[in-house]
Amino acid sequence: MAAITMGQLTKVYPGGVRALNEIDLTVEDGEFFALLGPSGCGKTTLLRTIAGLEESSGGSIRIGENDVTSTPPGRRDVAMVFQDYALFPHMTVTDNIAYPLKIKKVAGRERTVKAAETAAELGLSDYLERRPGQLSGGQQQRVALARAMACHPKVFLFDEPLSNLDARMRLEARTFLKRLQRELGVTTVFVTHDQAEALALADRIAVMEGGKIRQLGTPSEVFRRPANTFVASFIGSTPMNLLDGVVRAQGVEVGDQLLPVPVGLGDHLVEGEKVVYGIRPEYLGHAPAAVPGSLGGEVRVVENLGSAQLVTLEGSAGFVQLVVNEDTPVAIGDHGYAVPRQDRVLLYRDGDLITGGADPSGLSADAPSLAKGPA
Ligand code: ATP
Repeated sequence: MAAITMGQLTKVYPGGVRALNEIDLTVEDGEFFALLGPSGCGKTTLLRTIAGLEESSGGSIRIGENDVTSTPPGRRDVAMVFQDYALFPHMTVTDNIAYPLKIKKVAGRERTVKAAETAAELGLSDYLERRPGQLSGGQQQRVALARAMACHPKVFLFDEPLSNLDARMRLEARTFLKRLQRELGVTTVFVTHDQAEALALADRIAVMEGGKIRQLGTPSEVFRRPANTFVASFIGSTPMNLLDGVVRAQGVEVGDQLLPVPVGLGDHLVEGEKVVYGIRPEYLGHAPAAVPGSLGGEVRVVENLGSAQLVTLEGSAGFVQLVVNEDTPVAIGDHGYAVPRQDRVLLYRDGDLITGGADPSGLSADAPSLAKGPA
């Protein structure tokens, strides 16, 4: 096991694409770390650069005590699991798992024993003589994991290893992977574009955009206090409401409503400035009649989320989405009101978080409001 430390790590591809732009990052020893971001943000490049499959254009990488910036992949003591698993179709499960041991010149008998032991840990003992084509997607994924585990690497590098599984199996595999990583305690870097997967699995997440890290934090930090509107709109199963507003003496004017801001938060604002008022749909309560400081509108869409409903209101602030209890009667054409939970209000200036989301500067769930809306 080992920490991974990257300093000013840069990758410029031929043709000038700057896929990594001076990344400074330490993945702690034993940590389950997710690289999250939209397509093209550089997460695969970062993973492949750690693996040594891409040569960096600048900066350094250390794994444990060793500077591996120029070390070939085979000598970095890392194991990678790819999106398509990259299993050898003509080899049995045993031979696939044992392959890296063969490369390391481990003797034949010992290889077979180790492969069988690792297969047993992952529930693959009944499939040792099968070929990958005779396995389900989930079983193939376990073979790929077993192959990565067999060498007892210092670091696991996972490139979207769950994305080829169907939705249900993906959830099962996610839980399995998390338990396995805990048991093994191997430093793990996991690439995904699925924010739910990153939130569920990781100890910490780096949210990337354009070759840079836009926020680094625990799942609850990036969920509760996204550092900028990019992260705010990327994290969360339902997109955060990001509403244009103007700071007034008694709150933030959004559409034709004056929304109160919690005590402590108002100190960071300048009257008259433009801000973005952020609130997640889960933190908007529903009221059938007007409530001071709420966002009113006509119900345009109702989406069934199973145990809840996602309701889209259209009002003076534009579209506002809120999550409503499954038992609450809401119909298209109704008039509804969205009531913000004060300790979950986030305010952004020029795309960056000013404050909010129960920040340590003294907000609390029951903090009184500065203002009484609506105007
Ligand atoms: P995805 O989720 O689609 O795999 P990603 O976040 O993993 O995306 P990368 O594959 O790391 O993104 O790519 C980062 C940027 O580098 C993109 O703009 C991509 O087009 C570019 N890129 C990747 N590989 C190469 C290459 N071999 N040559 C030139 N440009 C490349």
